[in-house]
Amino acid sequence: MSTTFKTIAKFQYSTEAQIIKGRLESEGIPVFLSDNFTIDTDPLVSNAIGGVKLKVYVKDALKAQHILTTIEKYSLDDAGNAITCIKCNSKHVQLFSTITDFKSFFSFLVGFLSGTLPFYTKDKYRCKDCNTEFDIK
Ligand SMILES: [Zn+2]
Repeated sequence: MSTTFKTIAKFQYSTEAQIIKGRLESEGIPVFLSDNFTIDTDPLVSNAIGGVKLKVYVKDALKAQHILTTIEKYSLDDAGNAITCIKCNSKHVQLFSTITDFKSFFSFLVGFLSGTLPFYTKDKYRCKDCNTEFDIK
């Protein structure tokens, strides 16, 4: 059985996996998710069990991985317009949370306890082309 399917991506939440699943299925590739129901029930266990696995048949794996690399998630503002980089005007801008690892989570905790919380919790945007990080006013 282990040679039938290949896990080609993992997601923290099943909503992301569902979006990618729909994209691959529109290309005629059957997609199977595992652990998505467990994680929907309790999102906090996602990291512990390795996230939602997106699997395809081994024969489809190469094509599916190629499609995955062509899917880029760029940020849109509330009106649905692409957010442009403040420095180079690129539209390749992605939202990222400042809480990305244990160290920043610790900063978050310190900020929370000391009252400087807003400084640490702000989501920021990062330009993929010039790596500038900025906020949207
Ligand atoms: Zn830029």
